[in-house]
Amino acid sequence: MEGERNGSSAALTKIPAIKFKKLFINGEFVDSISGKTFETIDPRTGEVIARVAEGGKDDVDLAVKAAREAFDHGPWPRLSGSARARILMKLADLINENAQELAALDTIDAGKLFSWGKAKDIPGAADLLRYYAGAADKIHGETLKMSGEFQAYTLLEPIGVVGHIIPWNYPTTMFFLKVSPALAAGCTMVVKPAEQTPLSALYYAHLAKQAGIPDGVLNVITGFGRTAGKAMCSHMEIDKISFTGSTEVGRLVMQAAATSNLKQVSLELGGKSPLIIFDDADIDKATHLALLGALFNKGEICVAGSRVFVQEGIYDEFVKKLLEKAKSWVVGDPFDPSVRQGPQVDKIQFEKILSYIEHGKREGATLLTGGKRHGKKGYYIQPTIFTNVTDDMLIARDEIFGPVMSLMKFKTVEEAIKRANDTRYGLAAGIVTNNLDIANTVSRSVRAGLIWINCYFALETDCPFGGCKMSGFGRDMGMDGLRKYLHVKSVVTPIYNSPWL
Ligand code: NAD
Repeated sequence: MEGERNGSSAALTKIPAIKFKKLFINGEFVDSISGKTFETIDPRTGEVIARVAEGGKDDVDLAVKAAREAFDHGPWPRLSGSARARILMKLADLINENAQELAALDTIDAGKLFSWGKAKDIPGAADLLRYYAGAADKIHGETLKMSGEFQAYTLLEPIGVVGHIIPWNYPTTMFFLKVSPALAAGCTMVVKPAEQTPLSALYYAHLAKQAGIPDGVLNVITGFGRTAGKAMCSHMEIDKISFTGSTEVGRLVMQAAATSNLKQVSLELGGKSPLIIFDDADIDKATHLALLGALFNKGEICVAGSRVFVQEGIYDEFVKKLLEKAKSWVVGDPFDPSVRQGPQVDKIQFEKILSYIEHGKREGATLLTGGKRHGKKGYYIQPTIFTNVTDDMLIARDEIFGPVMSLMKFKTVEEAIKRANDTRYGLAAGIVTNNLDIANTVSRSVRAGLIWINCYFALETDCPFGGCKMSGFGRDMGMDGLRKYLHVKSVVTPIYNSPWL
């Protein structure tokens, strides 16, 4: 298709040296007990970047032991909030100083756009640390009036040892969405990055040590979900699992917590978010938001606006403009600054997306553009848009997690709300209209954790992020993102002369 571009050889040479390949336990990089390693692959080429230590149950045990010791007896939970904040600020500075290398790691490991990573993802991680560093010395409870015979207050205490299990689509952002508030709260932790993208997490462990985070506070176990991840979820000494990933695995996480120590769980899961475009919308803006919503980060984004509903009055014009714009959406090497879409994360994801596209064709949807792999090497897929999609088709129901948009026509506001809600997910939704009544009605009626009006993917540190329905529960970011790592303890004392004394 027009606008596509193959990676230039100059761009392909920008591979940083891989400095950290071992597990990070109790402040040291160590081999896995089994000695096993696994390959991490460059999705631009399908070639191996490095072999990384494969942590299993025994390694998780060691990491949890270190985190438990650091929590029960170490300095971190006992430091003042401002002392913890200073260390988090230092870590943030180190991240900024190494932004180029960190962005390159996420590009070769996940296929993410290098220029975006360097300008947004990596500095955004540093900002997350600074945001929660600012909160670390403001964690306090309430004074309770009680009945008059007693007085009481609440203490907000760190919840304990946290297990963070994260996906591959935002290796850096996901790491710091979880780790920053947990560190600010005074928790200790074990982080398991996704097996597809272990590289930047290990680099962050190194920077955390350099910043002065005490040994045992932040441990990183690289490895697979079915072994290392599973061991974390059923571990008796982990007090909370903060999970981001698929709905299917979220269910397993909850089951493991229920059958072990009833640890707390928060789940940020999948989505199939609607973007609803009304007749009065500016078509240029609407087509821009629709493309961005479905294709950004090659569609590997939980809040992707993959179901686009367009009101019948502007539908035909919208489709025409959308097609024009889609043709200038450049696919290619993610190191090239003019490229807007890099490769899918791995072969499994690549094949899964192509099979959904084939399914869409068989179900009778019309392929407006794309539908095939791009190039001959690596895991690139053409930006794909289907029209004539019906609500019952698999491509309209399942989270594809790829650059595939399903376009649908609607007549009335009521119909748009009903169809937008006809999904098992409830993560995000977008509305494009200049009509305040419509915007207010729809934003209150669509069940989702996040609504964007006349924008999409607008997210900042202060904005809580998470879903409802089968998109999970719990929030990352904002002060809600901190509270989930705090435990409320009530302390009650009698007032002098109380009859209870
Ligand atoms: P996944 O569920 O396959 O894996 C996520 C993490 O869970 C990985 O680290 C994996 O190793 C681990 N895991 C796998 N099996 C496990 C098990 N049995 N026990 C414990 N851990 C296990 O998801 P993915 O393919 O890495 O990521 C894509 C999914 O993540 C999509 O569904 C996407 O919507 C979702 N996601 C959600 C959000 C959000 O904030 N709601 C953000 C990003 C991604």
